[in-house]
Amino acid sequence: MITFNVKDDKQIIVPVRFARARNGFSIRDDPDIDDRGFARGRDVSGLSTTDARGPMVGLMVNHTVHLRVIREDIDDSAPLYITCTEPTVIEVVEPTGGGPLPNTGIFRIKGTTARGSAGKIQVRLGSSTGPVLGELEPHVFNRYTLPITPHRVRIDTATATGTRPDIPIERILRRVRAIWWPCGIDIRFDPTTRPTVDDNIRLSTVDTVRDPDADNWAEVKRVLGLQRQRLGLPAGTNDQSINWYIINRFSDPTTVGLGIRRQLANTLSCDPGIFTTSNGVNNDREIERVARTVAHEIGHFLTLEHVQNRHADNPVEDTYGRRQLMFPISWLPTSPSPRTLTTTPRIDDVGYGNEVRGCLLTLKNHPKHATDKETTSARTAVRRGRWY
Ligand SMILES: [Zn+2]
Repeated sequence: MITFNVKDDKQIIVPVRFARARNGFSIRDDPDIDDRGFARGRDVSGLSTTDARGPMVGLMVNHTVHLRVIREDIDDSAPLYITCTEPTVIEVVEPTGGGPLPNTGIFRIKGTTARGSAGKIQVRLGSSTGPVLGELEPHVFNRYTLPITPHRVRIDTATATGTRPDIPIERILRRVRAIWWPCGIDIRFDPTTRPTVDDNIRLSTVDTVRDPDADNWAEVKRVLGLQRQRLGLPAGTNDQSINWYIINRFSDPTTVGLGIRRQLANTLSCDPGIFTTSNGVNNDREIERVARTVAHEIGHFLTLEHVQNRHADNPVEDTYGRRQLMFPISWLPTSPSPRTLTTTPRIDDVGYGNEVRGCLLTLKNHPKHATDKETTSARTAVRRGRWY
């Protein structure tokens, strides 16, 4: 049964829609979906052409994921089936035979070929040949592996010995890996080949790196040089890893992360790398916040900009913008009560728990969005060797 609520002689009927399998922190089996509008927008190089009308999702080749169908204008008892138009590229793993879909709405698919069109996942009514009620367009990516090297940087002065930052690196990097996984980008921490490095450096203030504005990047640049010096590489040569420098704090306590990509490093005559701060990282929520910050800085590393090129002093205010990993703020006050039309933020949970930003990396390329198709932009940066 489909329920009609006709108003002004009209109703748009949305029998079903798609969603991430569950809300909350990132795990690799539950990719976020790009459900910003039904159309894909402008063509995206690297994605095949499509006539799909629905959300998109990125899949790492040969990795099974969960996704969810949400029933909107259709009865809970209507039997639904999941099919794929390109079964040689996408396998419907569960439910067996495509349906009927269980009450949870959860189904599992696996991309088996990373070339060309992945076709469409379709929700059908009644049987696997029934009418199509909704569609989703997956894209299957082959795996690019980027090694990451964590550095725990102890910052001494001429007279004082600093404290070694101590945060749960493996737990954080598991989440970072999950965030980038649907893009086919594997942020790999391998303690055997690239163990965590304990670095010591002498700067002007104990446990503190001066903000870029404070000294024209001088202290930031010195920290960024640690890995190259350790390896004895000459200036201008590259260590092919994401070097992640964990420091206690910046001189400006509102700075919690920095990402210096190759292009900026060339301008500054220094080495690329990312920073996060360890201060206050003592619970699960903070671990998640640091993971998102590391993943966000990796986004900068892979040439991505803040959502719509709007920074922390003027961020976008729409909920989709806050769902994106490249939203420029790590903290916002919680939504005031009662809420009004101009309350900022209007909601506290954008699908990843009560957190300021989500982890969506976009696939679509909408004409009025200045920083779209993030997934393919980041992959292009990797492919062209622009990340180290
Ligand atoms: Zn940023």
